[in-house]
Amino acid sequence: MAGTGLFAEILDGEVYKYYADGEWKTSSSGKSVSIINPATRKPQYKVQACTQEEVNAVMELAKSAQKSWAKTPLWKRAELLHKAAAILKDNKAPMAESLVKEIAKPAKDSVTEVVRSGDLISYCAEEGVRILGEGKFLLSDSFPGNDRTKYCLTSKIPLGVVLAIPPFNYPVNLAVSKIAPALIAGNSLVLKPPTQGAVSCLHMVHCFHLAGFPKGLISCITGKGSEIGDFLTMHPAVNCISFTGGDTGISISKKAGMIPLQMELGGKDACIVLDDADLDLVASNIIKGGFSYSGQRCTAVKVVLVMESVADELVEKVKAKVAKLTVGPPEDNSDITAVVSESSANFIEGLVMDAKEKGATFCQEYKREGNLIWPLLLDNVRPDMRIAWEEPFGPVVPVLRISSVEEGINHCNASNFGLQGCVFTKDINKAILISDAMETGTVQINSAPARGPDHFPFQGLKDSGIGSQGVTNSINLMTKVKTTVINLPTPSYSMG
Ligand code: NAP
Repeated sequence: MAGTGLFAEILDGEVYKYYADGEWKTSSSGKSVSIINPATRKPQYKVQACTQEEVNAVMELAKSAQKSWAKTPLWKRAELLHKAAAILKDNKAPMAESLVKEIAKPAKDSVTEVVRSGDLISYCAEEGVRILGEGKFLLSDSFPGNDRTKYCLTSKIPLGVVLAIPPFNYPVNLAVSKIAPALIAGNSLVLKPPTQGAVSCLHMVHCFHLAGFPKGLISCITGKGSEIGDFLTMHPAVNCISFTGGDTGISISKKAGMIPLQMELGGKDACIVLDDADLDLVASNIIKGGFSYSGQRCTAVKVVLVMESVADELVEKVKAKVAKLTVGPPEDNSDITAVVSESSANFIEGLVMDAKEKGATFCQEYKREGNLIWPLLLDNVRPDMRIAWEEPFGPVVPVLRISSVEEGINHCNASNFGLQGCVFTKDINKAILISDAMETGTVQINSAPARGPDHFPFQGLKDSGIGSQGVTNSINLMTKVKTTVINLPTPSYSMG
């Protein structure tokens, strides 16, 4: 059970502690933040509301711990990460339990998230050992005007303190996707978990603590993003911010200093369906892509752009599958569970009502109880409806009928987002041409958008982000290139 056994020390009465200087601590603020269970809408957990002084202390510790960590051999850093991964996987139950209670993720998917996170840590340790152990050797005489008098050696050095801010929907996985690359690359790490998802993250941090990482190297500051977020992101000790979330990321990028930013933000992933597509495959992917975790995924299918000639048939197939989705508590592994908060449910309802007023066809009756919204397919959506452009982050999928492929591509490219997209056709040549024309970070051919596997590059264009994720890209982003140039008194050539 969460907060018991191996994890008992992370709890103080009914409030979870924050982590600093290798210890679990109670904030001097005397205040806590409540985490509301999305399904029951009752308070489930409490976490510390950390103060600015506590943030300052953590940053000082992170700065000094990083100096010695950078001198720790790469194989040793990797060894500790492998240990943390094993502890995490061995103790998946309390983390999965808290994911169910604080973000209403179905129980089975909660376990999968923790296991996938352990695998990501291990992969990152292995990848880091390889790519950080390599550099470049350049010779001066390849550039005009130079003799072979300069040998240039390049290597990758850490940035310093990395601030990691994940979102609520994959709090554990998106935290470790920042923590593991930061640590293997020799950085220290300050984590600010999402409030909904904080308790799962605190359990995950305890796995790193048990693995034996040096004091001060990893810290976890809790509190509302709206209260301590600016203080953290504008802190002068921070050398890199890795953020995943919504529009908050755009405002962070405007306020942050001259430091590398990794921003993975929202999306409006389009699914373009051509008239030669396998419609059963498309329908299954719309269900998986649009309704998994109740549509609360950055890469969810958020608009279907289907050729008019096959639209009726596709809508009927998707409708039949929607009817089979189960709706209910996350503990029962229901396909559709409560969305994360009441404000989120109200926002989704606003999009649905706008579509209703403007004449969309409702394939099911709209139904909501508390934060639980029944799955809804909206047909005949038009570009003047908000749902055609905005990210519902809920179990509602709009269908726009198109009369040409160009119309679909234009709709996709007119979005302010550019995360992923997908195209369904049996003609690979057409698929490639459409993929090239779509202004998104990734295009999936004949499958719904997805972030994984976690070592694939993952990036958004436009308002969907800055930089690229995926294990290798994250390690590279969290390092800087350092060069040393050896200057010889006379040109020197190695002879055969
Ligand atoms: P969010 O509201 O932007 O919150 C993300 C994180 O930012 C949370 O930890 C939040 O903490 C923190 N935060 C809030 N205000 C802050 C501030 N002023 N300064 C610093 N941090 C602050 O997003 P969300 O609702 O958790 O997640 C949903 C969004 O994430 C969707 O738009 C989705 O598309 C996007 N997302 C993108 C990806 C991707 O890889 N592209 C992946 C998953 C999700 P609190 O919880 O304490 O407010």
